[in-house]
Amino acid sequence: MSTGKAHGRETLVYIGLGSNLDNPGEQILRGMAAVAELNGCRFLARSGRYVSPPMGPQDQPDYVNAVMAIDCVLWPASLLDQLQAIEIRHGRVRSGVRWGARTLDLDILLYGQETIATADLIIPHPGIAERAFVLVPLAEIAPGLMIPGKGPIADLLERCPKDGLIRID
Ligand code: ATP
Ligand code: CA
Ligand code: CA
Repeated sequence: MSTGKAHGRETLVYIGLGSNLDNPGEQILRGMAAVAELNGCRFLARSGRYVSPPMGPQDQPDYVNAVMAIDCVLWPASLLDQLQAIEIRHGRVRSGVRWGARTLDLDILLYGQETIATADLIIPHPGIAERAFVLVPLAEIAPGLMIPGKGPIADLLERCPKDGLIRID
């Protein structure tokens, strides 16, 4: 087993970004730039940005969400570490409230066609099939995507209510 940071093989990775504090639209763009600058990651594409009402606690601002695609040679756990470091650099404070307000949230949605279930990392991301603010931007950049264990994205999209989701760019 390798303990190094890079495994040398490029993998197509989709990352979901979210923000609802301190100019969320800008946070998403800055988050994308930070991910694109990571060693071992190469920017491929991004979706538009979408606004939607909060999931979970309702006493918080609306969210801006987007999805980006990268080529990545980092192991999944290393990528998660790097993404969490970016979240902290971008002012993320964990309040302990589930789905509470945040400046930047970076979720690994898919890592190639791999299925991972460890204490710290579940891939595909558990919310992927039910969240319009993930499915709609993901389908925008990957309309033919197959989501391991869940099926074609087009089928998931069809079943998912999109109420309240607005594309802003
Ligand atoms: P949700 O995961 O439902 O979107 P959230 O993004 O608000 O909620 P966080 O507080 O950001 O949740 O993360 C909680 C933990 O989720 C992280 O510490 C991380 O270990 C774990 N996690 C599991 N799978 C993933 C994944 N695919 N991407 C990012 N974090 C993950
Ligand atoms: Ca999330
Ligand atoms: Ca997260």
